[in-house]
Amino acid sequence: MTGGRGAPPLRVERIVAREIRVPLRRPFEIASGTTDERRVLLLELAHPDGARVWSECVAGEAPDYSEETVDTARLALRRWLAPRLVGRELDHPGEAHQLLGAGVRGHRMARAALEMGTWALQAVLAGRPLGELLGGRRARIPSGVTLSLDASPAELVEDAEEALSEGYRKVKVKIAPGRDVGRLRALRGELGTDAPLAADANGSYRRGDAGRLSPADALGLTALEQPYEPGDLLGHAALQRRIATPVALDESVTSFARARDMMSLESARALNLKPGRVGGFAPSLAVHGLCRRAGVALWCGGMLETGIGRAYNAALASLPGFDVPSDIYPPTRYLVEDVVSPAWTVAEDGTVGVPDRGPGLGIDVDRGRVEDLTVWKEEM
Ligand code: MG
Repeated sequence: MTGGRGAPPLRVERIVAREIRVPLRRPFEIASGTTDERRVLLLELAHPDGARVWSECVAGEAPDYSEETVDTARLALRRWLAPRLVGRELDHPGEAHQLLGAGVRGHRMARAALEMGTWALQAVLAGRPLGELLGGRRARIPSGVTLSLDASPAELVEDAEEALSEGYRKVKVKIAPGRDVGRLRALRGELGTDAPLAADANGSYRRGDAGRLSPADALGLTALEQPYEPGDLLGHAALQRRIATPVALDESVTSFARARDMMSLESARALNLKPGRVGGFAPSLAVHGLCRRAGVALWCGGMLETGIGRAYNAALASLPGFDVPSDIYPPTRYLVEDVVSPAWTVAEDGTVGVPDRGPGLGIDVDRGRVEDLTVWKEEM
């Protein structure tokens, strides 16, 4: 399938990991934590013939979004994961998921960094764009922005209006108990009834809070994302039965099996898919197929990535099942600088381009900038 007739065999000869630090323009707060500087774990995967690709692990600084962190990912990669991949010849990048996951619980973001890098390496070897290798067809992707919880009500209105005037197709507002329906109602009042507005609670409510969330149902949100804690699929199902607004899941869905459970239980009508959260592209493709068959609305999320991680997300979001604007917007909206060129931009129609500068990821990584930002580096 991945073909590349005459392409050299897929094999990772060497993996170099490093951490770079990039400050945020301003602190980014979600219900489960605040980030003011991104610690980003980057990998370089090298093929014996000299081909190389960068990949990015989306684990955060603290175990707030998920159990994983930059530090746990470094340990897992060095001790258990990288040794499984180095020197192995694969017939297809889809084999990496099984290779990295057999007998390993969790560590999905660490596994995904290797697994997705393997797909990108195959794309380079085959001389094809990564998105095309995954089955993507679109050159541009509808984009929406996400606004931090720490914004004042006035800042929220200003930021949302600015984003919509720039063409963005969706504004997603972070909410938490006490900073929720009132803010959303005020925002809806300012933006008008047609503005595409969504809310994301990052799992900060409990089942008993359904009465607090229900008034948001009158606000015409395109989605209410992850209201309850990740493990509570039944609670989400009860809420979805009670409100007309589509409930969307993010943190809850860590695998294909969890996506299937979400659909069987009717926990949500929409899914925010992040390839790092489910262990990489192979499970992402399976979840994508499931959503298409079940008619579940789907978009690709984001984790405050650099332009490297964004390129992976855009490649995935070029598939036809991503029918809701994705959370893929230029990293320099939140990072003080990026490490790739060309710079990510959004067009007036609210779309971002799938990077197309050559095969693989289709971006150039500024190695000098990366070296300057590096705080440690090791071969794994
Ligand atoms: Mg979310």
